[in-house]
Amino acid sequence: MISTSIRLKGFTESVIRGMTRLSNKYDAVNLSQGFPDFDPPRELLDALQKCVYDGPHQYAVTWGAPNFRCALAKKQTRFMGITIDPDENLVVTCGSTEAMMVAMMTACNPGDKVIIFSPFYENYVADTILSGAIPIYVGLRPPDFSFDPDELRKAFEQRPKALILCNPSNPSGKVFTRQELELIASLAREFDTFVITDEVYEHIVYEPSKHCYIAALPGMFERTISCSSLSKTYSITGWRLGYIIASRTIINEARKVHDFLTVGAPAPLQEAAVAALELPDSYYAQLQKDYTHKRNVFLSYLDKAGLVYTKPQGAYYVMVDISGMGCESDVEFCEWLVREIGVAAVPGSSFFNEPVKNMIRFHFAKKEETLKKAGERLLELKSKSYSPRRKEGNEG
Ligand code: GLN
Repeated sequence: MISTSIRLKGFTESVIRGMTRLSNKYDAVNLSQGFPDFDPPRELLDALQKCVYDGPHQYAVTWGAPNFRCALAKKQTRFMGITIDPDENLVVTCGSTEAMMVAMMTACNPGDKVIIFSPFYENYVADTILSGAIPIYVGLRPPDFSFDPDELRKAFEQRPKALILCNPSNPSGKVFTRQELELIASLAREFDTFVITDEVYEHIVYEPSKHCYIAALPGMFERTISCSSLSKTYSITGWRLGYIIASRTIINEARKVHDFLTVGAPAPLQEAAVAALELPDSYYAQLQKDYTHKRNVFLSYLDKAGLVYTKPQGAYYVMVDISGMGCESDVEFCEWLVREIGVAAVPGSSFFNEPVKNMIRFHFAKKEETLKKAGERLLELKSKSYSPRRKEGNEG
């Protein structure tokens, strides 16, 4: 029989997106796949409306429309504290998902090793395998998701080609401190390793944590491939606008990979998104305030429901420990939760390399009323205990 690529045996379909399908089936409140249920900024919608008739409707420049790159370079220079040249240091991609894939294919040769912190966002394993590389894992140990510097050094001693850094981190909500980043950076310099970042939550950080860009640390720009997107910052996950920031040498190579993968990101959406990139600093301050409020609303329900969790420092996820729920499988617990309580979460095992089965992930990028609806349902956990009823596939 004709057989498909062996690479595909190394990973499964997305558990996160499978949970969304299950959530839809039970008409549950979907706190599994992380995306907002509120509108993007008004300026963006007005700009999009204008593009419908004024265009552009044909291909943009492969590595990004010039006005989009100029606006993005200006904004990132402001926040990263390093000078980003729109013509030399940027590739605009179809979401950060493509940015990461391009970064991995740009950095890695078949057989290279790549360090991934565990728990991880599920795409990183697929990205590593699809680019022909081999993942090696370093634990971020619950409940505080800290790592052991000796374990990290041992991983570097295996001479990896790259390390993937999700900061602020999905699913743990960890924000790496400057000190932690300096340690990672010094190992990357010592062992001549690329750092590939996923910084899509760069503007969703809770006081007193601060986001620090590893690319801005001394000697790191030439070995860092920074990936991010507009999805989370402007609540436009469906627009698929992401980007890579790196040195001119890396960008010249990354442009080729991007060109042959997707040609380019959608031209009308790049045009409209310039309005978002030009928003003043007050927009980002308000975003942080709004997300802090959402986090507090949701965590107060978790407290009331008696659930044990790690308080997120950034991003919009919270990992809940379900050890006390009398269930041995996080997958079965999530299936029961969506069916019987009407709230969808993601089983934590899909994020861990280690056999962790006692954690589940909720996200709180939702309107206050949605969070309250989910929260009220979770309060039922106080009186209703887990009881497996029947086997439920997660449909995908
Ligand atoms: N990053 C989001 C999450 O972790 C969305 C994932 C996706 O489906 N692309 O839930």
